[in-house]
Amino acid sequence: MDAVSTTPFSASVYAARLDRASALAAGAGLDAIIVGPGPDLQYLVGVEGDTIERLTALVLGPGIAPTVVVPRMELAKVRSTAVGGLGLAVSDWVDGDDAHTLVADVIAGATRVGVSDALPALHVIPLADRLGLRLELATPVLREGRMIKDSDEIAELRRAGSAIDAVHRRVPEWLRAGRTEREVAADIAEAIVAEGHRTVEFVIVGSGPNGADPHHEVSDRMIEDGDVVVVDIGGAVPSGYNSDSTRTYVVGTPDPKAAEGIAVLVRAQQAAVDAVRPGVTAEQVDAAARTVLADAGLDDAFLHRTGHGIGVSVHEEPYIAPGNDLVLREGMAFSIEPGIYFAGEWGSRIEDIVVVTADGCERLNTAPHGLTAV
Ligand code: ZN
Ligand code: ZN
Ligand code: ZN
Repeated sequence: MDAVSTTPFSASVYAARLDRASALAAGAGLDAIIVGPGPDLQYLVGVEGDTIERLTALVLGPGIAPTVVVPRMELAKVRSTAVGGLGLAVSDWVDGDDAHTLVADVIAGATRVGVSDALPALHVIPLADRLGLRLELATPVLREGRMIKDSDEIAELRRAGSAIDAVHRRVPEWLRAGRTEREVAADIAEAIVAEGHRTVEFVIVGSGPNGADPHHEVSDRMIEDGDVVVVDIGGAVPSGYNSDSTRTYVVGTPDPKAAEGIAVLVRAQQAAVDAVRPGVTAEQVDAAARTVLADAGLDDAFLHRTGHGIGVSVHEEPYIAPGNDLVLREGMAFSIEPGIYFAGEWGSRIEDIVVVTADGCERLNTAPHGLTAV
């Protein structure tokens, strides 16, 4: 594991998260949960990084003292996180040991065991083998804690939001005809770090017809006068919490049809933001944006869901999508990002992160929402 250790919150915060996860596991009838590196491990104990062939895992559950199984060569890094702060039990191993058996030993006797969704088959299959069990996904248990942000987490998301807003406010410095998307993206990436992020997670600069592809990142296309340009950017601030915001720019004067469509999109985005409050479902928020677009005959151009949750990962629950009847609760944080796309011509997306409050929502991105001429 290529671990970066940042433990932005006090040990008591992590202790409470671990207790809650064990209680939720018990409530779901699970005897134990095995959490591999990924957003769940980052949330629970502040250990960051990706899974590699050497197993690192946190084992917890009702009546189990949370235990970290970790390669000895990673031990110092892992101890510098909440794992050390809380004095959690550690079972370290060296090459030649069977790490999967060490995990099985911690939860000997368990009959229902869940795994975090970021744990790869490389480890899930040997673990199932050692335990002699069919493992389950612990996702429904683990998402519960991560989905509801506490005030410290909201403060970090706010910090990330202002940092990315500062970058959007500077985009007019770099975006102009005669430069390539890649050149503009390089300047933006530099600013993402300069404005307070630790990492650049993504930079999308979709100019002209490239803006019609929601998944376009960057290319060597030369930006032309009159291009509508989608700029969707984000990074993680030092605590590990992410920003994600999209604005649409135009180089010079837009085609009147594009200007009109984007004005409708701004209203659709606002309607979805206005729909957010506790008790409303995710699909109702999605429908609020979709209805405004439908009234203008633009719903066929909206190719994706309205939004996704955000926190220590850029995409997480709740998903603001058709068919999701999840009821919104105070503390949930997610994007509101409707878009319209016309293949071969142009596209536009407008994206803010919002946090559900007691009676509505707080918008964490405030850079101007309409088409910004550069
Ligand atoms: Zn985005
Ligand atoms: Zn997004
Ligand atoms: Zn995305």
